[in-house]
Order: sequence, then C-alpha cells, then structure tokens
Amino acid sequence: MQNVTLNNGVEMPILGFGVYQIPPEQTEQAVTEALAAGYRLLDTAAAYGNEEAVGRAIKNSGIPREELFVTTKLWVQDAPAQENTKRAFETSLDKLGLDHLDLYLMHQPYADVYGQWRAMEDLHRAGRVRAIGVANFYPDRLVDLIVNNDVTPAVNQIETHPFFQRTADQHVMREYGVQIQSWGGFAEGRNNLFTHPLLSEIAEKHGKSVAQVVLRWLTQRGIVAIPKSVRAERMAENIDVFDFELTDDQMASIAALDTETSLFFDHRDPAIASRLGKWRLDD
Ligand code: NAP
Repeated sequence: MQNVTLNNGVEMPILGFGVYQIPPEQTEQAVTEALAAGYRLLDTAAAYGNEEAVGRAIKNSGIPREELFVTTKLWVQDAPAQENTKRAFETSLDKLGLDHLDLYLMHQPYADVYGQWRAMEDLHRAGRVRAIGVANFYPDRLVDLIVNNDVTPAVNQIETHPFFQRTADQHVMREYGVQIQSWGGFAEGRNNLFTHPLLSEIAEKHGKSVAQVVLRWLTQRGIVAIPKSVRAERMAENIDVFDFELTDDQMASIAALDTETSLFFDHRDPAIASRLGKWRLDD
C-alpha cells in the first residue's frame, strides 16, 4: 500500500475503506472482510451510527493497533463547542473501543466551527489524535480556518469523482499543505459511472474494471480514496489498483468529464447550510 505523508509527518494509506450507509448490523462483517482484504485505513463518523461495529471488527481482527489508521468525524456541535466537542470525541472513542484516533475530522463546516476546531487542536496537542482535519470545506472557508488558527488541517475530505474533480480546490490545498481525500469516489454510481463509455474503454485497455480505473485515477492524482462496498469481491477489486498506470492521454481524457458541479449537494447552498447546520445527533 502506498502512503501519503500529512503536513505533520503522519503517514496515511492512500486507499482505505469507507463505511457510510452500511447499516450497523452489517458493518462488523463488512469491516472484518475489508481488513482481511488488506485495507488498513477505516473511515467512519459519529453520524454513520456504526462506530461500535467498526470497533468490534478492529478488536476481533487481532491486527496490531499501530498497523491501522482509524478516522472518525465530529458531528456539528452547539456552543459551548469546546466542551461539547471533547465530549463527542470521548463518545466516539468509547464506541470504537480505542484509546486514540489517527484522524479526527470536523464533518461539516457549520455552527461554531472555531470552537470545534480549537477543541480538536487541544485533543491533538494532548496526543489523543495523531492528526486533525476537516470535511466539506470549500477553499475560502478552509483558508479562513487556516489563517486564524494554530494547526492547519492535515486533511480536507470532499466530494471528488470523475464528474466533480476539484482540480482548482486541490491546488489551493496543496499550496496550504492540506491533503485532499475523496468521498463518493464512485459518485455512488450516479451518472451511470460503472458503465460510462470512456471509463469502460480505458478499463478494457488495462484489463481492469471501471471501479479500478476511477480509484487509479484518484490515487494517481495524489488523492486519498475510501471506496465503500459490502461485497468481499468488490473490496478485493477496489484495493487492487497498484499494478497499472493510466497514461497522460487517459488522465487528460478523464479530466474532460469534469462538470465542476456536485452530484449530491452544495455546502454553500443556504438551504443545505440551514438543514445540516441545525441537525443534531442523539448521543
Ligand atoms: P462510493 O464509494 O462512491 O460508492 C459506493 C457505491 O459503489 C455502493 O453502492 C457500492 O455498492 C458500489 N461499489 C463499490 N465498489 C464497486 C465496484 N467495484 N463495482 C461496482 N459497484 C461498486 O460512495 P460513498 O460510500 O458515499 O463514499 C465513500 C466513503 O466516503 C463513505 O463510505 C464514507 O466513509 C465517506 N463519505 C464521507 C462524506 C463526508 O461528508 N465526509 C460523505 C459521503 C461519504 P456495494 O456496497 O453493494 O458494493
């Protein structure tokens, strides 16, 4: 597995396993199978409701803790955000059955972002989490957070797939030393991604699947990917992307698929800011 080096020197696998929308009762088995397939980076969130199941799979795997890279995410917190963030962190850690995290991400750019971030900085300084980062931050909000705080986010996890490629955003992140991580790398299959004519043609040339071409395209751009699947054969397929390389022409032809538009929702949309910004989890 290739690694990327985060801005604080921490090494992170460039490919991992995401568990969004895996029901809690299916998650332990899915994560167990993903670990058996060779994944070492796991991506969950308080909001996914499956941290306990992820924790059970980690515990039962017998894999040494230092070989794993575990990410979870902080949901939107009310003031006093510093206190609430620390409580939410402990709840996640308890559910996962861990004594530290590898990466803690602020899930949404809403509510008391500064209070949440300063609490995350404290947790990082106290050694409870090896790296802290954000998700769903557009470049203006990201740079504002960076220039007004001590710790620069190590990662920004954002929607990134062939139809929404985030090239300009990636440049800004590179300039500030923030690692880009893709969520929804397959666009959850939207726009008929898995049967797309161009991606299928490139896949055929390499004797690979469309899914493998997409993951190769992401990782070849230096983007960390976390595909989700509940099927063991797809987990194996999705991690098998390091034995071929896309040509410059193929990279350029995929670049032409970019619509520069979200296929899900835009975090800058006032209706989304209102809906997600007001949504709270029950502990
Ligand atoms: P995704 O990885 O783009 O797509 C998952 C879909 O693709 C599932 O329907 C899966 O079906 C299918 N699939 C997987 N491998 C396949 C293959 N080889 N061939 C055909 N179909 C395949 O979607 P995602 O889960 O939304 O995104 C990935 C991860 O990013 C999440 O799990 C989560 O950890 C993270 N995420 C973060 C945010 C955020 O706000 N920070 C938002 C969304 C997601 P099966 O399961 O049936 O195989």
